[in-house]
Amino acid sequence: MATQPTTDFLIIGAGFSGLVIAERLASSGWKCTVIDQRPHLGGNAYDCTDAVGVLIHPYGPHYFRTNSQRVIDYLSRFTAWHEMPYTIKSHTRGRDWSFPINLNTFEEYIGHPSTPEEFSAWLEKNRIPIENPKNSEEVILSQVGRELYELFFEGYTLKQWKRHPRDLDASVCGRIPIRTNRDNRYLSENFQALPNKGYTAMFEKMIDSTPGIDLHLGMDFKEAKSRWNYRHLVFTGAIDTYFDYHFGPLPYRSLRFEPESFTATQLVAREPISGKPGFWQNALQVNHPDANTPFTRIVEIKHATGQITPNTTIVREYPADWSPGDEPFYPIPAPDARAAYQKYAELAATEPNTSFTGRLATYRYYNMDQVTAMALTEADKLLARYGTHP
Ligand code: UDP
Repeated sequence: MATQPTTDFLIIGAGFSGLVIAERLASSGWKCTVIDQRPHLGGNAYDCTDAVGVLIHPYGPHYFRTNSQRVIDYLSRFTAWHEMPYTIKSHTRGRDWSFPINLNTFEEYIGHPSTPEEFSAWLEKNRIPIENPKNSEEVILSQVGRELYELFFEGYTLKQWKRHPRDLDASVCGRIPIRTNRDNRYLSENFQALPNKGYTAMFEKMIDSTPGIDLHLGMDFKEAKSRWNYRHLVFTGAIDTYFDYHFGPLPYRSLRFEPESFTATQLVAREPISGKPGFWQNALQVNHPDANTPFTRIVEIKHATGQITPNTTIVREYPADWSPGDEPFYPIPAPDARAAYQKYAELAATEPNTSFTGRLATYRYYNMDQVTAMALTEADKLLARYGTHP
């Protein structure tokens, strides 16, 4: 009778979580078998070159940012960086606005030059005093008041989540900064940069420079589980799928991407809009908060990757309902969804020799740096438990 192959750690998912844990454990001598049902590395952070030679983010823009030196130091072992403050616009009422809301947006709104003091006074007059904002509506109303909330947040959020902002955690809209200075950056973290050759190249380096990682792409979790004998399982997929939807599927929001590519010749006519040759729009990302526009944003990732190429690709992003089998892009950050997840979390805690880690396995709306930090911590825990390989 054929004996099953043996591995130390069977790791389900080759995204940030799975690969960071594999790299850490394999570096301590453990044999790690990483599988992913998709045919590529990197999970949703996977990037690749499209038919016109443009480096794209096929699962939506992944803007790496962090304040964690530990995360920067760790990932910098596998990549150099293309530093780039991400700047975007919002398009509504037939024009582009500086976004996130800052002094420039305020000047565009009132139609004449202003000062931080004048904007602060305006905010003080217009904001709705709410001491502890409990949801995404309150968190924005309490900072900027109803007019700017309705202009930039209400419609966008309704489209994106198919839920009213008051039915979403404060952290959802609360992650968008609001400033009284002229800082136009979308995000506030100190370090804002993309891996200079892309995420996929970074993940390839992680694997290639670490003996002891055995990678199998295009393989289903159930098949892997029956194929290997293992000491410990690390599961980074959607927790409800691990338990065969025992308590029913958790709610997720999905996305549909519509790419459109342009050659250098086609782009000449866009130069009055894009402001420079080789680009289609004048910002990395243009948000479309209006309810009657079916997509939420148009992303031209070439602005951020720094790739030198004459062509470009833009992607329109359409929020979509999710049903089992679809890509679960976003866990829903809301109390009812979290309560549903909690039942799975309790079940997961009883599963022997199994770790659940990452965005989908812990059902959290996490950024890549948070996922990396979580994976480093999980690897430390596993190394404390199992030690280095004898
Ligand atoms: N949001 C909004 N208007 C915008 C941009 C964002 O209302 O122009 C809200 C929306 O609810 C969104 C959340 O803020 O889901 C977080 O935005 P972010 O761009 O960080 O979302 P992600 O890139 O993770 O989809």
